[in-house]
Amino acid sequence: MTRQSPGPLTIAETAWHAVPPETALAALNVRADGLAGDEAASRLAAFGPNRLEAKAGRSLIARIAGQFRDVLIHVLLVSAAISILLGHYVDAGVILGVVVINAVIGFVQEGRAEKALAAIRDMIAPRAAVLRGGVRVGVDAAELVPGDVVLIEAGDRVPADLRLLDAAGLHVDESALTGESVPVSKSTTPTHPEAALADRVCMAYSGTMTTAGQARGLVVATGSATEIGRIGRMIETVETLETPLVRQMAGFGRRLSAVILAMSAVVFAVAVGLRGYAFDDAFMAVVGLAVSAIPEGLPAVMTITLAIGVQRMARRRAIVRRLPAVETLGAIGVICSDKTGTLTANEMTVRDCVLAEGRLAVEGHGYDPDGRVATEAGEDPATAAAAVLADLALAGLLCNDARLFADEEGRWRVEGDPMEAALVRLAAKAGLDPDQTRAARPRIGLIPFDSRHRWMASLHAGTDDPGPLLCVKGAPEVLIGLCEAEAIGIDAGIGTRPIDRPAWEAEVEALAGRGRRVLAIAARRLSAGAGMPAAGEIGQGLVLLGLVGMIDPPRPAAVEALAAARSAGIKVKMITGDHAVTAAAIARDMGMDVTHPPATGAELDAADAETFAKLAHERQVFARVSPEHKLRLVEALQAKGAVVAMTGDGVNDAPALKRADVGVAMGNKGTEAAKQAAQMVLADDDFASIVAAIREGRTVYDNLRKVIAWTLPTNGGEAMAIVAAIILGLTLPLTAVQILWINMITAVGLGLTLAFEPTEPAAMRRPPRAADAPLVTPFLFWRIGFVSLLFVIGTFTVFHLGEARGLGLEGARTLVVNAVVAMEIFYLFAVRYMAGPSLTLTGIMGTRAVLTGIAVTVAAQAAFTWWPPMNRLFQTVPLGPVEILIATGAGVSLFAVIEIEKRITRLITRRH
Ligand code: ADP
Ligand code: MG
Repeated sequence: MTRQSPGPLTIAETAWHAVPPETALAALNVRADGLAGDEAASRLAAFGPNRLEAKAGRSLIARIAGQFRDVLIHVLLVSAAISILLGHYVDAGVILGVVVINAVIGFVQEGRAEKALAAIRDMIAPRAAVLRGGVRVGVDAAELVPGDVVLIEAGDRVPADLRLLDAAGLHVDESALTGESVPVSKSTTPTHPEAALADRVCMAYSGTMTTAGQARGLVVATGSATEIGRIGRMIETVETLETPLVRQMAGFGRRLSAVILAMSAVVFAVAVGLRGYAFDDAFMAVVGLAVSAIPEGLPAVMTITLAIGVQRMARRRAIVRRLPAVETLGAIGVICSDKTGTLTANEMTVRDCVLAEGRLAVEGHGYDPDGRVATEAGEDPATAAAAVLADLALAGLLCNDARLFADEEGRWRVEGDPMEAALVRLAAKAGLDPDQTRAARPRIGLIPFDSRHRWMASLHAGTDDPGPLLCVKGAPEVLIGLCEAEAIGIDAGIGTRPIDRPAWEAEVEALAGRGRRVLAIAARRLSAGAGMPAAGEIGQGLVLLGLVGMIDPPRPAAVEALAAARSAGIKVKMITGDHAVTAAAIARDMGMDVTHPPATGAELDAADAETFAKLAHERQVFARVSPEHKLRLVEALQAKGAVVAMTGDGVNDAPALKRADVGVAMGNKGTEAAKQAAQMVLADDDFASIVAAIREGRTVYDNLRKVIAWTLPTNGGEAMAIVAAIILGLTLPLTAVQILWINMITAVGLGLTLAFEPTEPAAMRRPPRAADAPLVTPFLFWRIGFVSLLFVIGTFTVFHLGEARGLGLEGARTLVVNAVVAMEIFYLFAVRYMAGPSLTLTGIMGTRAVLTGIAVTVAAQAAFTWWPPMNRLFQTVPLGPVEILIATGAGVSLFAVIEIEKRITRLITRRH
């Protein structure tokens, strides 16, 4: 039979919610085990990608206009307008030139930053689990086509409009579509053709969130044909490059403008009233003051610094979803981290099986198929033990959604939960063929795993079985409590006897003490025709088959990262749903501080608010906790003033992730729900990436401070020089256009390089900054004032020297401009290490960005001094070698004085 793809029209016309699953499958020409790969490809070509149109970014005009929205720029524009009115066209031209160049740089850099952020966001594009030719594969959600059979579970975002084929406890939050935020329960029952969207219980719509359960669904609409696509909802693509610090600086800019305007008015009055300046001259001097004091390049440099930080973090596998996290990361004082998969590798291997018939050891490495199950003495298990083992392996294989397969390089890959993959491997080692066994006993019922009840149950029919088989696996303390009997071997068959709970509990303790993740497995044969028991009755007649103990090795990089976090003054807390003894053993192995015993979920539940706060603060390991505890832990830690990062992967982790200062979701094992709630996503799930991101966060913050520390003194120094000249009745050592030249050339050539500064060696050896620390600390304030003063002294000294050497006014001013630029270059080296010495080998070598910047600046300065058109424009004259020496000398002196200041402040801070 030739298969024919359904046309888009028939699809749109079908009331999928009103037809039974079989009709839907037939209409889409697909079997319940999914499309064949080539059919999916041709449908993709016919229907197009399953993607919503992106919301258009800001228009070009709006983006250009955005560059002129700064108050500081407005002051410059007004200055230019007044210069034109007074007939100073050159000055006006230069001012406008600066404004335009500044806007162009801002525009280009912002565009690049936005593009980079968009590319980074693509790294976490949603994926979907789909059946293709009967095999479960993970694909990009954009590749889904009508007719695909997809699997969804708690925490997934529904990737397309689905007609449900089967559903187990499925609940969906449809607020994105209907506005109703209470999750709706779903089933496969067809509804009335006229049913409203919210009443179509057998449908799951694209863009809604699965909050509980599991389901299989048939894709009936993709992309803009989906309900959400039809109401014209689009994906957000642009995120404004705005953070609290950028806003803080914008506020600072506004206040600065007010101060500058007030100061200009006073200086103008003094110039005209006391010093007898002509109106026109006084005005141009004040324009010089205004433009000198304005750090026009600062906003752009800050944005670029943040964007570079985001890119560096992405390179370290930490993907920032919300820009403010870049800043917050630098202040993190406590990391609350999941154990399984974040601190550990999440590559589980079953090592032990404990049966009522004795303990067995499982040989082999990782997911390798080689290895056998033997007694502790290395012998084949006795017949009785072998019989129970066979049932244990069978139940572990059936109550299981994972698949193991070899990739192109022959490495084993897991589709699904690694712990379940380990059970697939155990079954093979115990002699079962996983695919055949599963096919012979199809699943007819399911209660999915839930981190609140901590077990999972599945019901299986078999052709020659008397009745369906109920398989249950879960946390041992829960299952041991639920089971009524334990399995023993009798004449090659299997029998039961009443359960000996204390004996099992002792076995659990022993396994956990060796760092094993312990799982209990149970089963029960139901009477023919029986269905899935209710969750509350799962224990009735349940027989415990045994325990399995798995190892989950620590991630090597995580061990190092733990040490790095410690020396950076960051506390790390391990949060896990696993057994307390297992968690403690692993924490100890990884070198965590385990002076206190783990706090358990039960202990947290019993604690009053005060005790809870104390536990949250002093304990390092939190075991058998549920997602609800995570939220309370974050709140308790924050109440003590800590800046908290919290990791999470499940749908129930979303509230804690939202509440944390930086919520961190797992890129691989994390659900869409967790990723959406998080500020940052770890592409590799590795704890080490969190620490790497914190390191970059500290670097970004340092660099922002450096940019400010470098920019403001120049502006302050120039402004002070002009004010002093006017008030004291001296000749202006610089003209307004010359000041603009300095600001522009140094902001682009030098200031920008600070955005690329690498991490200072001490960055991870000091405690985190206080959450409420102002960007401009008293120390930074002092540094800015001190250096401003040095610039004033340098300016007047050099001006005086120039006049004394008979250079004339224009020559002396040319010399001053060169000296100021030289001071800026040397100050750049000084500022690269805020407190540490700069006169070191690495300090002098600079970075590529710094060296390129200096080369550009020096070349521009040469043109300024010796190129005739520039001489005319800026009223400069060529200088001789002695003058160049004087200018350089000014830079060296400034550097020397600042290095001495640094040494003194280091001595003072050390004494405190
Ligand atoms: P963790 O923080 O270690 O990932 P989880 O909340 O995922 O903790 O799991 C807690 C416990 O629930 C596990 O130690 C295990 O005993 C049990 N468990 C986890 N996953 C499953 C599953 N798929 N089926 C049955 N039991 C499970
Ligand atoms: Mg888990």
